[in-house]
Amino acid sequence: MDCSQTHRNLYPYLDRQIEPAKKKSFESHLGECPDCYGCYRFHFHLRDCLKKIYRHFELPPSVLRCLFKRVAGGPP
Ligand SMILES: [Zn+2]
Repeated sequence: MDCSQTHRNLYPYLDRQIEPAKKKSFESHLGECPDCYGCYRFHFHLRDCLKKIYRHFELPPSVLRCLFKRVAGGPP
């Protein structure tokens, strides 16, 4: 898996929706690429923050999903 594939799979991974076949290759790339690992840590914490916001304001899951996508730079 290269950097761009890793970025594409970041949110599926965090959502635990990554295909099992890709999971290993994703994790091994994180282990050897400090850039992707940094990005992963950033989004991991960001996601944590958004979860807390979500609990606090009780945003509907659709809004939350949209927020995640915006932050991840994907299409709305
Ligand atoms: Zn990388």
